[in-house]
Amino acid sequence: ETAAEAPQKLWFDGTLVDQGALQATLGTHALHYGSGVFEGIRAYATRDGAAVFRLPEHLERMRKGCELLGMDFDTARATEAVLQTLRANKLGDAYIRPLAWYGDGGFGLDVSGRAHHFMVATAATNLHLNGNRTRVSVSKWRRNPASSLPPLKLCGAYVNSILAKRETKARGFDEAMFVDEDNYVVECTGANLFFVRDGAITAVEHRDALPGITRDTLIRITGADSRPVSLEELLDADEVFACGTAAEVAPIAEIDGRSFDANSPLSREIGAVYAATVRGESSWSGRWLTRV
Ligand code: PMP
Repeated sequence: ETAAEAPQKLWFDGTLVDQGALQATLGTHALHYGSGVFEGIRAYATRDGAAVFRLPEHLERMRKGCELLGMDFDTARATEAVLQTLRANKLGDAYIRPLAWYGDGGFGLDVSGRAHHFMVATAATNLHLNGNRTRVSVSKWRRNPASSLPPLKLCGAYVNSILAKRETKARGFDEAMFVDEDNYVVECTGANLFFVRDGAITAVEHRDALPGITRDTLIRITGADSRPVSLEELLDADEVFACGTAAEVAPIAEIDGRSFDANSPLSREIGAVYAATVRGESSWSGRWLTRV
């Protein structure tokens, strides 16, 4: 039986269930108010079988989000849930989506005492920016400020990204980039940003941006500098790329008509090292892979 033929299973509150068998009720708090926390994780087929890339780091970020919302989160159980779901679905390359959320129990914002749930869904990969040369525009929307919504993967916070994505698509671009009131670059809707100038690699840093695990990986591998970057400086770069678990390393072709080096040589080289790392083929791989 291949992954495509096998009935896909979901982890739900401690057991594996058939994907089609699961339904959330319409009173679900998270459906009304966005009171949930999710993750986006990837597994890759390696020479030694499937392995999850930086699973502890992803689950630690999820734990922080759950703590903020007052939901219990057991990291050891979540780890087992992810691994068991991958095994049940016989997946090699996979996108993994854990979600914790507040369930049914009447209207109202107070979540104290309300039941919460935990699920893990998997899919046979989910490319975000498709690794193509992405066309980007600066969004008219501001990023959720960290002082209002901490940059964690809180479900409701993603309405901000959805607005920016809708606007950029309507204008014929692939992806939106958030810039703050002082014209400093924040991030894209679901990816962080880097640029290359005269051979030097810089990671864009901003307090309102999600501290991406891919971003951290690339800083460690390349030794890139991390600092605040203005839009003006970014537009002056030789190459710009976005990065994230789903996007991996995605070279950016243009920002609002300003085009970058068509070959993106350094971005591609970094993308190749990242690809080797997640597939267990670089000296960095060992510390970051959890065997399925
Ligand atoms: N920023 C946002 C808003 C995101 O949703 C993501 C995807 N999780 C990222 C950046 C990249 O983070 P990571 O590398 O941890 O996937």
